[in-house]
Order: sequence, then C-alpha cells, then structure tokens
Amino acid sequence: MTLGGAAMLALGERAIADEPARKLGVALVGLGNYSRGELGPALRLTRHCRLAGVVTGDPAKGAKWAGDYGFPEKNVYSYDTMSRIADNPEIDIIYVVTPNGLHAEHAIAAARAGKHVICEKPMANTVAECDAIIAACEKAGVRLSIGYRLHFDPYHEVLREFVRTGECGAFTRMNGGFAFQMGNRQWRIDRKLAGGGPLMDLGVYVVQESCMATNAKAVAVTAREIPKKKPELFNEVEEGIEWTLEFSDGALAKGFTSYNDRANNFRADADRGWFEMQSAYIYRNLRGETHKGPLKFEPEVNQQALQMDDFAECVKTGRETPVGGWMGRRDMCVVEAIYASAAAGGARVEIKT
Ligand code: NAD
Repeated sequence: MTLGGAAMLALGERAIADEPARKLGVALVGLGNYSRGELGPALRLTRHCRLAGVVTGDPAKGAKWAGDYGFPEKNVYSYDTMSRIADNPEIDIIYVVTPNGLHAEHAIAAARAGKHVICEKPMANTVAECDAIIAACEKAGVRLSIGYRLHFDPYHEVLREFVRTGECGAFTRMNGGFAFQMGNRQWRIDRKLAGGGPLMDLGVYVVQESCMATNAKAVAVTAREIPKKKPELFNEVEEGIEWTLEFSDGALAKGFTSYNDRANNFRADADRGWFEMQSAYIYRNLRGETHKGPLKFEPEVNQQALQMDDFAECVKTGRETPVGGWMGRRDMCVVEAIYASAAAGGARVEIKT
C-alpha cells in the first residue's frame, strides 16, 4: 500500500524522533556541476545527513554515484519515478538542484512524496511558483529551505552579527556586484529554464546580501538593463542589469550583475562602522574586512556541509531553518520588481510581498 504524503511524514518524523543519532538520508535531484562538484563531496563531511539517493535522467550516472557514495542502486530514481521515493524510508530530504525553471515541479514532487525539501536558489522562476512550492510543503507537512549557503559562512556571519547587535548603527548604504563572463550557450541563458539572466543566477546573491545587512524591509526599486554587447548570445535574457533597492528605514542598496563582466564584492556602510568583502559570494578563499580590521577564519568551513547539516538538525529538532521558503520568495519579489522597473525604463517600482 502506498501512503499519502501527510501519513508518510508522520511515520518519517516518528522514525527520525526514535533515532536522533541517525544521519538523515538526502537525495540529490539533478547531478550537474553543483551536485557533482560541491553537494556530493560536502555530504561526505556532514554530521547529521548523508547522501542516500539520487534522481537523474541518466541511469548509468546514477549507478556510478551509488557505487561512489555507497548507497543501494534501488535508490537511483529517474524524474519519472521520483514520486516512488515516498516509499523509501532511507530518504528523508530531497534536494532540488535542477535548472531554475524546474525547481517548482521538482520541489512540489518532493513534498508530495512526503519528504523535506531543500530547493536551490533562485527558489523558482516566479513568485507564483514560489507560492506553489510553499503551499505544497505546507499541505504535505514537510519542511522547506533554500540553498542559501552564505548564511552558514563565518565571514557573512560577521555582517549578521553587526545587524543583530546594532554595534555600528544601521547600515544605510550598501553596494554589491556579482558578474562573470559567460562564454557558451547553456540553460542559464534560456528564458524558460533560467527565468531570466544573471539577475536570477548571480544578482540574487547581491539582493540576499543587501537584505542580510538590515532588519528593514525592501520596499521599492529602480533598475536599468545594461546595453548588450553580445546580443546574439543573450537574445532571450538580459546580459547585465543594475538596480537601487530602497529599504523601509531609508537605506539604499546598489546592485549590479552581468554575464559579460567581472565582479564579486559587497560593502555596507553605517555611521559607526563598515563591512566589506571581495570574493564575497564564492565557496572558498573569501576575503573580508571591517572597520576593525581584516577578517580571517581558519580552517575554512564547507558552506554546503554546514547548510545541509543545519537543515537536517532543523528536521530532527523541529527548530525553524533560518533560510526558509519565505526568504526565497522574498528575494523573488525583489527580482520581479527589478525586472519590472527595467522594463518600465527605470521607473520606481514598489515591491509587492
Ligand atoms: P548544471 O547544468 O550543471 O546541472 C543541471 C542538472 O539538471 C543536470 O544534471 C541536468 O541533467 C539536469 N536537468 C534535468 N532536466 C534538465 C533540463 N530540462 N535541462 C537542462 N538540465 C536538466 O547546473 P548547476 O550549475 O548544477 O545548477 C543547478 C541549480 O543549482 C541551479 O538552480 C543553480 O542556480 C543552482 N546552483 C547553486 C549554487 C549555489 O552556490 N548555491 C551554485 C551553482 C548552482
């Protein structure tokens, strides 16, 4: 007999509560660069979870992962058989790592299978899709988090600590950029699969960081698309875009992103201090400085391992994740407003939440 999502969850949660020391099983959906290069290896370092299965369009690849990571081949699913994970008690969490335009479909399928969900950033192509994911997780009674790994990095924690303590006063001026040179045609410049261009992929980090630097609410935005130098490559999405985000306390955050430039920085200024990062959004070798001096954290952490362990702990203990679905949705509200402003020739657009 196949149990429905809520019933499965009840059984799943009982099993988790009965075995607090058990590492929760994670299934990665999509075995592309991020899964292969970062999440899989990070799952070898995690204390509260482990890789227990995969969802892939390529069975041979799945079998290789099963061998490499030591889980049974029966835990290799295809996108078509993914719903059967509902019957697999070895898998507690499904981590969606497919192109942005497929996040909603896969996250909703995960929730319907009665499994807790981690969804990569950006949460989905639209706010409406974010709402559908949140609703599906609520209906199934499963937890949802977004792959916002920087929340688990000690450099970015310094910024959050300044905000928590108010030590520098409120940050009123923020400025960040994230850009790289995209040379080849791939799903990231396909509107249907990516939802947009670098704003969806990279700019969302700058939006995240700006929101991290304040307790105030993002209320409005003005934005401008940067004229294309490679219109033949970026024929479906923007090549670059810049924006100014206004917060409810009057703070302003300037942001920039591009697939035809180089940038990886963030700075926030307050009356009594500042925080700055170069190599701000990467996995390793981050560089930061504050009004108190350079930042150095050694040994380096594995952001992804900390992120997945934190979510596994949330599932085990019932604690709220700091990077819940609401946060992915909030950022998509900002992203949609940035696109709307750019489309309206830079008009000020209020952010609807
Ligand atoms: P990728 O192209 O390397 O991998 C995508 C995977 O999805 C592949 O295994 C591909 O086979 C699969 N897939 C399934 N259906 C597909 C379809 N219809 N078209 C194309 N691919 C399909 O991409 P990636 O870099 O691994 O990114 C995947 C997701 O992870 C994206 O949402 C991206 O934003 C996110 N990501 C997050 C971070 C981070 O730091 N948090 C870093 C990289 C990527």
